[in-house]
Amino acid sequence: MRILIVEDDPTLADGLTRSLQRANYAVDCVHDGEQADHVLAAQSYDLVILDLGLPKLDGFEVIRRVRRRGATVPILVLTARDALADRVKGLDLGADDYLTKPFELPEVEARVRALIRRGQSGGSSLLTHGPLALDTSGRRATLDNVPLELSARELGVLEVLMLRSGRVVSKEQLAEQLYGREDEVGINAIEVYVHRLRRKLELAGVAIRTIRGLGYMLEKDS
Ligand code: CA
Repeated sequence: MRILIVEDDPTLADGLTRSLQRANYAVDCVHDGEQADHVLAAQSYDLVILDLGLPKLDGFEVIRRVRRRGATVPILVLTARDALADRVKGLDLGADDYLTKPFELPEVEARVRALIRRGQSGGSSLLTHGPLALDTSGRRATLDNVPLELSARELGVLEVLMLRSGRVVSKEQLAEQLYGREDEVGINAIEVYVHRLRRKLELAGVAIRTIRGLGYMLEKDS
């Protein structure tokens, strides 16, 4: 998961960067609108966190240019508390959500998770992988259209693996999606959830591979 932060306030930029890095996102940070526009034209991100008041090129113009290029990357706009007109304009130009300053970092992380999930499922909440389908909003999974009996934890593990199918997901990343960061117990329980999931999926030929020392991977559809 790659996130671009565009924020000219160094303290805020630094706080956001650290907090999202701790949540295991790969974070790039730029400090003016022109840099943001260059980076966004050249590289792909899963999310952009964008301040509106920026040197050189303001946030509105950055959004305008991103959308003009046809990029669908989710954009989370940061605005001042009383700037209703800015929020409306940002959303009209193609931003997906906004946060008013000052904000709490856990709130940012929650918005980021929601936006990335929405972006990856192409606006719908249905994830599919071969015979497997998972409805992230209804919290249900089916295999060959037959409902799968999964606990909430198993469903959580499956959702993360499906969102990143074909890529290795570490136990720590899985634990983090299911528990708070400080919960040490989580890591060991992950093995149990994966083991149970594997048994429920193997008959349909859906394989969760163990990548020794690294984590797990839902194999790409063949
Ligand atoms: Ca600013």
